[in-house]
Amino acid sequence: MSASGSIVRCRGCGALVPTEGIPPEHAYIDASPGCWSLFAELRGREASDPGYLAHGCSITDAYMIQHPGVPGRQSSQSVWVHLVGLQLVVERGMRPLDAIDVVRRILVGHPVFPWLDPPPSLGATTVADVAAAGGPDAYADAVRHWARDAWQAWAIHHERIRDLATAALAGTAQADPH
Ligand SMILES: [Zn+2]
Repeated sequence: MSASGSIVRCRGCGALVPTEGIPPEHAYIDASPGCWSLFAELRGREASDPGYLAHGCSITDAYMIQHPGVPGRQSSQSVWVHLVGLQLVVERGMRPLDAIDVVRRILVGHPVFPWLDPPPSLGATTVADVAAAGGPDAYADAVRHWARDAWQAWAIHHERIRDLATAALAGTAQADPH
């Protein structure tokens, strides 16, 4: 068995991923190189094909909350921001590209986010399932399933996330002269 064909379990999300890969570009993301490479491949697909692009922020949200890392300012902020993004899409039915505008409002004033202890299981669906989906329709289904699964895994913190999402949406309303 060659090393290049080996499979390992990602230390962040638990997905079965190739041993070989590129390490995460951000130090606060705790992912195995093979897992980060799958995520990079999905982002490349979206960048090159408009049929995939509409799901862009949902894959980032789902990926980041399945690789929360260890307590720290950036890792804490990442988990909060990406959980709010998923709440808006999964529970409120917003389009992923619209959710980005709401999420940006959370970061105005550079708040410091408290660390949320990750749940014991981060969800059964992972980036590996989405990477295996062929064609834009199957990809869209896989991303929606992944987003719901990843969001549901964090149920112990849902109330706090919903509260922040509500505040961010209220900020949108205030900023809108209409
Ligand atoms: Zn992973």
